[in-house]
Amino acid sequence: MLSSRFTAPLKHLKGVQKRFSSTGLNFELTEEQKELQATAKKFAQEEIIPVAAKYDKSMEYPWDVIKKAHALGFVNATVPQDIGGLGLSALSSSLVIEALAYGCTGITTAVLTNELAETPLIIAANDDIKKRFLGRMLEEPLVASYAVTEPIAGSDVAGIKTKCVKKGDEYILNGSKMWITNSGHANWYFVLARSDPDPKTPASKAFTAFAVEGDTPGIIRGKKEINMGQRCSDTRGITFEDVHVPAKNVVGEPGKGFLVAMKTFDKTRPMVAAMACGLAARCLDEAAKYSLERKAFGQHIANFQAVSFMLADMVIHLELSRLMTLRSAYEVDQDRPGAYYASIAKAFAADTLNKTASDAVQIFGGAGFNTEYPVEKLMRDSKIFQIYEGTSQVQRLVISRQLLGRVKENGIY
Ligand SMILES: Cc1cc2nc3c(=O)[nH]c(=O)nc-3n(C[C@H](O)[C@H](O)[C@H](O)COP(=O)(O)OP(=O)(O)OC[C@H]3O[C@@H](n4cnc5c(N)ncnc54)[C@H](O)[C@@H]3O)c2cc1C
Repeated sequence: MLSSRFTAPLKHLKGVQKRFSSTGLNFELTEEQKELQATAKKFAQEEIIPVAAKYDKSMEYPWDVIKKAHALGFVNATVPQDIGGLGLSALSSSLVIEALAYGCTGITTAVLTNELAETPLIIAANDDIKKRFLGRMLEEPLVASYAVTEPIAGSDVAGIKTKCVKKGDEYILNGSKMWITNSGHANWYFVLARSDPDPKTPASKAFTAFAVEGDTPGIIRGKKEINMGQRCSDTRGITFEDVHVPAKNVVGEPGKGFLVAMKTFDKTRPMVAAMACGLAARCLDEAAKYSLERKAFGQHIANFQAVSFMLADMVIHLELSRLMTLRSAYEVDQDRPGAYYASIAKAFAADTLNKTASDAVQIFGGAGFNTEYPVEKLMRDSKIFQIYEGTSQVQRLVISRQLLGRVKENGIY
């Protein structure tokens, strides 16, 4: 208990202390959130888990699951209500994403990529673009892509070379994008292109963002890439050859596209962190169940402290990842989206997942290395979380810049 010397200055808070302690931090979900989470978990159990291995093997795009998820409102869930969407909060959305990811992150990446493409429009586009490009996503199960990365530049977004030149009331786009999720099937693309060729122009003024119809002449979709994991997710390069885009499709102000593309991550990285939590939870469940079945030296391997402590470490890190993910989503919902919490959540959840997936394989022993057992796929699926939407190194760059900036300004972080 604090001595009165310390509590005296807080006396004016008498009466409100109880309110503070009961509502200042609240870990309870609302009834609606519990229902949403339960529905998403049921969907993962009934519609995703049974087909996940099949899609992993065939590498086919999971259209049938996407259509069912769309019918339930799990796709495009953050599209605002004034466009006709559910307008789900980031926190509620992260609960859904974690639940779906438990089933398969290849399928969930296909679903979540729509939000990656839609978020810059939600942040910066005018009402006309929102209605034209977001409205259609609600009406039928379509997919879209966020096309920023290029063969020569991923982490260094300002290094991209796709260019746009304004001619009359159109822009002409030329260049190549790489590693673009959903791009073989996208109905439209969010595209970032350099509008100011002067290399001295700062990134914040040098790029323009567009919503581009997928069937525009001059768009060439590359072959599907064969990746280590998330194999049913569709990743391709795309080439733009003299692609004419109406000037009315500029997202935000001309020249300000870089900021739009970057602000998007403040909102979507918490969702990627949620996906990593879902996959880590799946690895933990699979490993814990196996440790209670598998016997060595006459007893269940769960009885060996070396194994049970691995499980304990998994759950410690998963619980912390989940807390940080929810915190970062909460910040988005408070309209304080900032890279700081989003990057901490994404980096921690991605690193946690990779250790958890690797340890799950370890607990399975030889069976962990084999495609007949579930954790081999889970480990392959986990690696990408340290790479896409900003590598783990890039997250640390963002975090350390913010931390050092604050210390320089205030003396404390
Ligand atoms: C399956 C998949 C799906 C993807 N989906 C999309 C998508 O839908 N849309 C899209 O636009 N992009 C997408 N990407 C691209 C992804 O975001 C990039 O691959 C990622 O940002 C890294 O860029 P890079 O591959 O060019 O690696 P590089 O930037 O070349 O990085 C290589 C290595 O160097 C490190 N590094 C680079 N710069 C620094 C630095 N300053 N400090 C410390 N370390 C550094 C990186 O961390 C990494 O380890 C996807 C990628 C994959 C593989």
